[in-house]
Amino acid sequence: MKFPSTRRSAVISGGGLTALLASAAVAVATGSFTTAPDRSAELAAQIDSSKPRNVILLIGDGTDESIITAARNYEKGADGAFALDKLPFVGDMTTHGLKVGPGPDYPIAYVSDSAPTASAWSTGHKTVDGRVSQGPSVADDVPGEDFRTVLMEWRDKGRRTGNVSTAEITDATPAAAAASINARGCQGPQNMAVCVQARKANGGKGSIAEQLVDNEIDVILGGGLNRYNQATDAGPSVLDYARDAKGYELVSDADSLDDVQSVARRPVLGLFAPGNMTPRYAPLIATPPPGAGGPAARCTPADRGTQPTLAAMTEKAIDLLENRKGFFLQVESAMVDKQEHAADICGSIGDVSELDDALKVALRFQRYNPDTLIVVTSDHAHSTQIVPNNGAGRQTATLLTADGDPMSVAYSTQAVGSSHTGSTVRVAAVGPQAANVTGLIDQTDLYWTLLGHKPSKLHGHRSGH
Ligand code: MG
Ligand code: ZN
Repeated sequence: MKFPSTRRSAVISGGGLTALLASAAVAVATGSFTTAPDRSAELAAQIDSSKPRNVILLIGDGTDESIITAARNYEKGADGAFALDKLPFVGDMTTHGLKVGPGPDYPIAYVSDSAPTASAWSTGHKTVDGRVSQGPSVADDVPGEDFRTVLMEWRDKGRRTGNVSTAEITDATPAAAAASINARGCQGPQNMAVCVQARKANGGKGSIAEQLVDNEIDVILGGGLNRYNQATDAGPSVLDYARDAKGYELVSDADSLDDVQSVARRPVLGLFAPGNMTPRYAPLIATPPPGAGGPAARCTPADRGTQPTLAAMTEKAIDLLENRKGFFLQVESAMVDKQEHAADICGSIGDVSELDDALKVALRFQRYNPDTLIVVTSDHAHSTQIVPNNGAGRQTATLLTADGDPMSVAYSTQAVGSSHTGSTVRVAAVGPQAANVTGLIDQTDLYWTLLGHKPSKLHGHRSGH
């Protein structure tokens, strides 16, 4: 990999972060926080009001405190910590959306899907379930107002942009970064039954697959090849259109991704699976009590073939996007949510680790590029609960954790499978303007932080470096 970059000194906030992480590691290693030092000075030194040059947004879909805790127990033990547990600024973020109606006051939806939640940080506006960076309306098949996204704002300022996901890249979370459409299902040109007005044949912006390449994102990496193999209204496949009309270099496996050297002349579109990419671990599906797994059960690695890991995609994306003017990159670990829907505890735990490994890559870059804002968060809560034993819930599973003790989880929102829940989620950050995530924020507030506020006047602090 190309980083560390020599553009900026690591002395300023990189050193502060290292010290902070080191002190956290000491506290963790002893298994006790009774000797933890006062952190006021360290945190104060991390407050930076300058405008970020680069922004890296990492999303764990459905990755609430409950699944993070289950994953931490399993991978690190109850006294362990992920990298995402060590970021200096942490807040709590609302995830509610709206319901369709006559407006202008739309009823609140207390439990949202990934489309309105990603739209909230992408556009600064709430919207209705299933809708992608487009405002609410009277019915699901009636389009609302298209909103510009934070990725497109950065692009229009001449910054490079990237969009990475382990789901189909046309799935709701990556779609909301750079597409506006009334229904998240309209992923390819042959999936437009409820998005008739958006079809290119009808003068619209086209499907999500088409919009992502039309919006000239420099680096697009994920699953979803089948959507790009669909024929456009004009005839050729979206993949051919991306290559021939939009100049994309196409890659399809980890090796060919490695070979990409630059996006200075051509953007890159990497599609590594027909649908969603493969989670890190093979499934362990919860069942009605006495449940799946058992006190000695451990997760087993899945065969991911030639697919790159999320960390590898993140590292390559940063390598390709890095430039003097800066970049905006969204990275999603998508399969935490999808495997929670399937009541698959191993699938979702493994992809919390995928998210954490991607964060470690971003932190390594940030150490040498301290003008980079990194935000780690989720879109909505989910139903995985850590329960006292394998009899507590509709469907349960038990695993042997890193502590050597059994941990049971339950899924109880549905008779079979599992669904989203309505709690707030963690938002954590490091870098310029990271302090804006602290306390309780709304999901739409994150839009302004990702955009980069004008620096506030701070006295007694370094700023504007
Ligand atoms: Mg998602
Ligand atoms: Zn979901």
